[in-house]
Amino acid sequence: MFEKSKEFFSQAKLYIAGGVNSPVRAFKSVGLNPLFIKKAKGSKIYDEDGNEFIDYVNSWGPAVVGHANDLVVKKTEAVLKNGFSFGAPTVLETELAKRIVEAFDSIDVVRFVSSGTEAAMSAIRLARGVTRRDNILKFSGCYHGHSDGLLVGAGSGASTFGIPSSYGVPVDFAKHTLLAEYNNLDEVEDIFKKHGDTIACIIVEPVAGNMGVVTPKIGFLEGLRNICDEYGALLIIDEVMTGFRLTYGGAQHIYGVTPDITILGKVIGGGMPTACFGAKEDIMNQLSPEGGVYQAGTLSGNPIAMAAGITTLDILKSKKPYDEFKKNTAKIVSRAVGLAQKYSIPLSGESVGSMFSLFFRENKPKNYAEVSQCDLRLFSNYFAGMLERGIYLPPSQFEANFITMHHTLSDVENTLVVLEEVLEDIAAGKLYV
Ligand SMILES: *Cc1c(COP(=O)(O)O)cnc(C)c1O
Repeated sequence: MFEKSKEFFSQAKLYIAGGVNSPVRAFKSVGLNPLFIKKAKGSKIYDEDGNEFIDYVNSWGPAVVGHANDLVVKKTEAVLKNGFSFGAPTVLETELAKRIVEAFDSIDVVRFVSSGTEAAMSAIRLARGVTRRDNILKFSGCYHGHSDGLLVGAGSGASTFGIPSSYGVPVDFAKHTLLAEYNNLDEVEDIFKKHGDTIACIIVEPVAGNMGVVTPKIGFLEGLRNICDEYGALLIIDEVMTGFRLTYGGAQHIYGVTPDITILGKVIGGGMPTACFGAKEDIMNQLSPEGGVYQAGTLSGNPIAMAAGITTLDILKSKKPYDEFKKNTAKIVSRAVGLAQKYSIPLSGESVGSMFSLFFRENKPKNYAEVSQCDLRLFSNYFAGMLERGIYLPPSQFEANFITMHHTLSDVENTLVVLEEVLEDIAAGKLYV
């Protein structure tokens, strides 16, 4: 079924490190070869072997209006013909910025960059520049891109100062990152009591999506806001995944919390590489050329990415798919958990808007430590079984599933039929990997 992909992967490995340009694509954690994708349209994705799948990866989030959406293709093509990049301002940048500013009360102005990694890195530099403090606080299991200070794991024993979670990150950089458990406000308070006058910012995913979908407990995000206010630190809400995906705007509107700096990416580029960070003017005017915090980018605000982003946001604004999203993901999760009970397989699930996760453990997790207790052997078999039957899922228990405007009720029903077959097989002891 996957012969061509297998061959293309061995060729890719001759020329590309590990055969992929981002590690999770390699399917290593589930012990399989990755699929080579030929094209995608709407809710479907097609591999080089000619197999069709219902897609729940959706480019890891950006494809919220469906793959190769006709209007996005048309508007982007028109811009493409005028040239790809000028390294000079275009009206398109103002147009996309205006839409973002109008959607977020917490943002007066933005700055565009080319990836979420770059946006998070720049936002943290800005927070450090504004506060003149060096330390930052992040949460275990939250992902904010792969810049040095953010590739940090929990220190041993009682130490709250981070240690590098990747070779190549200097210990001297990692020690400026303090770590706390998601949803544990007491721990954050304790850290601030000891180190509050050295902490420039807290950075947080308002709904965590990079340890599977984990929602904030009631009061958690407001608590972070209050702690930041008390100690003069900035609150950075990383909405790279959640922005324009959970609502037209961000998770900050759903949970009623106002950050100092917001980070956006994924959806705002409609599948093209763009991201941004934004805040009130008094913070943003500390960036160069007006202020002393340096930040730049050759391809920042790329016109093709701007056109894809503008059209994507306009579709979301007029079609308002958000209630439909919520219904469909809630249905998948509740029916999946019911099926798993029928076959005595431990499964829990979480959904928010167009994001959802199924966790192979009894109760839905509230933090990274709990997600880590999932049964990964069950997950791998579920993943492989679904793939063989035409459902393309993220190949890791720690990644969120996404739906798009083109995921119909029949896509959802078909997925659940397949899920039942796979769970029945697993319960009967059939192993896929
Ligand atoms: C994807 C993601 C990033 C990183 O974005 P890239 O474009 O992959 O660099 C940062 N933060 C969150 C919350 C993300 O989901």
